Amino acid sequence: RAKAEGPGRSTIFDTSMHDQARERIELEVALRQALSDDQLYVVYQPIVRLETGMPVGAEALVRWEHPTRGQIPPMLFIPIAEDSGLISQIGTFVRNEALRQLGVWRSQGVVSESFYLSINVSPRQLSEPDLPLVFSGELFKYGVPAQCVALEMTESVMVDGSSVTGRVLHELRQLGAKLLVDDFGTGFSALGYLRRFPVTGVKIDRSFVIGLGKNVEDDEIVRAVVAMSHALGLSVIAEGVETVLQREALYHVGVVNGQGWLWGKAVSAVEFAERWHLSAALPEIPLPVAAVTS
Ligand code: C2E
Ligand code: MG
Ligand code: MG
Ligand code: MG
Repeated sequence: RAKAEGPGRSTIFDTSMHDQARERIELEVALRQALSDDQLYVVYQPIVRLETGMPVGAEALVRWEHPTRGQIPPMLFIPIAEDSGLISQIGTFVRNEALRQLGVWRSQGVVSESFYLSINVSPRQLSEPDLPLVFSGELFKYGVPAQCVALEMTESVMVDGSSVTGRVLHELRQLGAKLLVDDFGTGFSALGYLRRFPVTGVKIDRSFVIGLGKNVEDDEIVRAVVAMSHALGLSVIAEGVETVLQREALYHVGVVNGQGWLWGKAVSAVEFAERWHLSAALPEIPLPVAAVTS
């Protein structure tokens, strides 16, 4: 297939090469190019209060539009970025873009004072000792309070992390940023880290949300997670909420905030401001009058 495209054409994504290692390296080269050619950008997905459907914040998610291949999903390039060290540059880009945008939205009254942006940080970034200093400089530059930023990390960060990572997390928390455990429940790990590290909340993974309202066991798992989280003073966000049934089940087991296609996919900053502006009338999705009993 690549040959048919003629000389000079990239074979980066030719899966017929049967050479995964080579493909990885070429994707890495393309990613390096993407960083210098502005092929990366950030989209925003609302995090809403289940009860009202009003946004309390948004998650910033990176996107890569390759000039010939189109959208390349983060699931494909983030692991490569992590392995190659490029994640550091990508992280810097996403933070700066997201914080700049939040500064603009705050000054324009698009979002409330307490609205926060949630930014994914990968294990490698959290092992860089100067991250807290760099981050606090960025907050200052864009005039954003640390309280209006949440940093999302996976459980593995705290389970496998070095002492440097522990220090970095404590310093980030001291600045005032929220620290959220992403994909909570998928790490199959002991939960002791929730006390050892200054975590402020958990994001219940979509895999636990899928069966809600249909599968009693899933309801009970989430109920237990909520009880434990609240006992530890942690906030809870449900990820990947797609249906009204899931929303109702989440509400009834005490989850306060959710994120998912039910309310909206991740969209550009311009679209986000149009759709989620403080003053925009939001379509109400009423909660059921009769409480679900269990
Ligand atoms: P994540 O942090 O758990 O982000 C949530 C993912 O679920 C996003 O996928 C989002 O688009 C998707 N999602 C949201 N609502 C729904 C829903 O209702 N149903 C379904 N099926 N999916 C939903 P996305 O944007 O493809 O990102 C995938 C992963 O890539 C993220 O998972 C995160 O781990 C990573 N990622 C994305 N952006 C960044 C970034 O800037 N830095 C780092 N380090 N990782 C990133
Ligand atoms: Mg996330
Ligand atoms: Mg997540
Ligand atoms: Mg996830």
